Amino acid sequence: MCGYIRDTDPGVTQQDLLKQFYSALSALAEKSDVPDVVKIFTSGSYFDSREVSKDTREKISLKLEELEIKKLIVESRPEFVTEEVLDEFDGRKFQLEVGIGLESASDFVRDILVNKGFTFQEFEDAAKFLRHRGFRVKAYLLLKPPFLSESEAIADVVHSAVRIKKLVDVVSINPTNVQKGTLVERLWERKLYRPPWLWSAVEAVKQIRNEGIEVICHPVGRGKRSPHNCGKCDDVVSKALRKFSLYQDLNILDLKCWCMEEWIKAVELERFSRIPLFH
Ligand SMILES: [Zn+2]
Repeated sequence: MCGYIRDTDPGVTQQDLLKQFYSALSALAEKSDVPDVVKIFTSGSYFDSREVSKDTREKISLKLEELEIKKLIVESRPEFVTEEVLDEFDGRKFQLEVGIGLESASDFVRDILVNKGFTFQEFEDAAKFLRHRGFRVKAYLLLKPPFLSESEAIADVVHSAVRIKKLVDVVSINPTNVQKGTLVERLWERKLYRPPWLWSAVEAVKQIRNEGIEVICHPVGRGKRSPHNCGKCDDVVSKALRKFSLYQDLNILDLKCWCMEEWIKAVELERFSRIPLFH
């Protein structure tokens, strides 16, 4: 499901990364709109020095301190969470939060359905190490990898969130979208895959929040390649999920649309049909 390899330009240099970072920040500074929190979304590993060099990370940290940013959010696979890298963030003026794409707490789902390439144990070790060093941990969970039915997908993220409750500070639900050149795209073109319903994201978020877990969800994209409902309520539901992510108030997710009935049928019946009934 991950289109990263296709979208990656090997010609991008460290100078390009810094240039992009500085220009994004100075655009905000010009509007005297310097944020409290900066999230550097690499779709990879911020701690992998082949992606972002130690020198680039240092320059970024210095700039953030200069602007008195309060919190930096980055992401990394667990194997790059090392003592040496974390030393770079010791005593910084900003708080560090590290997101790890666990995708699922089930080794079967992560290994066979997602092909992620690391074990739950490796995630657990990295999460414990980060917290031991005083940093915040976020886990990304993938809602609806290929080959799971709608109900299995909801159950998988909820079970995963509960299992990692004591290991992380916040759980981020990432509903799958159909990216170019992926197996998911081939299944989707043949109507063997449908991105998750936004109602499923709402349902998973409700169940996870009711377990006392901080949970966020920012569905990306619009239309049939992205997590969607009937089309009419998609924007309202996506917006509500983003708002809920800020306030953690479940009343925000008290939403209705005629298509909920269709979604309930999908949740009940796709366990048996194994193919999406409504696209
Ligand atoms: Zn609807």
